[in-house]
Amino acid sequence: MGDFTGECRNGAYSTVDPEECESQSQTWRTGALAESDASRGSPASPNLLSPQADQAPWQVAHSQDATEDVGITSPGPSRADARNRRASARRSALLTVAVPSAVVMAITGAAAVSISVDDQGEKATQAAPDTAPAIAPTAANGKLDAQLAGVTRGADDFADRASRTQQRIDLKQRQLQEQRRKAAEAAHRKAEAARKEALRPKFALPVAQRGVGELFGAAGSMWSSRHTGLDFPVPMNTPVMAVTDGTVEAKWNPFYGNMVIVTAPDGTETWYCHLASAEVRAGHVKAGEVIAYAGSSGNSSGPHLHLEVHPGGGDAIDPLAWLRSHGLDPT
Ligand SMILES: [Zn+2]
Repeated sequence: MGDFTGECRNGAYSTVDPEECESQSQTWRTGALAESDASRGSPASPNLLSPQADQAPWQVAHSQDATEDVGITSPGPSRADARNRRASARRSALLTVAVPSAVVMAITGAAAVSISVDDQGEKATQAAPDTAPAIAPTAANGKLDAQLAGVTRGADDFADRASRTQQRIDLKQRQLQEQRRKAAEAAHRKAEAARKEALRPKFALPVAQRGVGELFGAAGSMWSSRHTGLDFPVPMNTPVMAVTDGTVEAKWNPFYGNMVIVTAPDGTETWYCHLASAEVRAGHVKAGEVIAYAGSSGNSSGPHLHLEVHPGGGDAIDPLAWLRSHGLDPT
């Protein structure tokens, strides 16, 4: 292409078909390859309708004039060649007229098509006013539906998260309420225990059966000296209860037999002697709890409970007076 147009511009017509060169010259002047194809007789290109095609015919005409001038002044070409060039010039002139006409027709046709389309669209709009507007809203509604679906999913996700958060809050509240309820119950139990403890007797008679035998200080054949305790005449294995709170010590004594000593918080010792057996041998007991069973072990003539009271672990005192001083009367 470049070489070809270069030959034309140099006027080397002897080696190139002038008509061919004219077409190429047109192409060179318009600078469009597609128009070169059109001038060679190939099927009409759509580029003829392009804005470049509008200018091409006028430039082609000028090119033809220039070529004609060159052809006339040039001594080389024959008369037949001149006729061919004139025929070519006529064809070019015809083309010069025809192409713009074709362009005009094409533009007119396009306008007609546009008008026709517009008319059809308008007619369609007029003929079916209900369906035509429904198409665009349908597409818009589809888009809105998609957006709404997205928003709905987002709202659902948010609702789920909010629901889970609320569930955690509810669980926390239930746990807190449960903790408060348990704390209140514990406080209630503690208060109830304190109330019962306050009401609980701190002194108790050693046996349920009323009546006493030998009193404290009595003289008798069984004792080397005066009687150091208070006897409770009860059957064998009668339950014996702690008179005070305190710690328990169970032991054997040749004279007292099986005996249990309870030491109260104030240091007062109560001795339970001639027992058949001990129920509690160690540990802490409360007043009124069964600690042993009455018997006749040791230096004893028969089943009974021998009770002694030693304040601070010292010498024995009269159990009956001591019991009465604490509101108890076994007689
Ligand atoms: Zn005794």
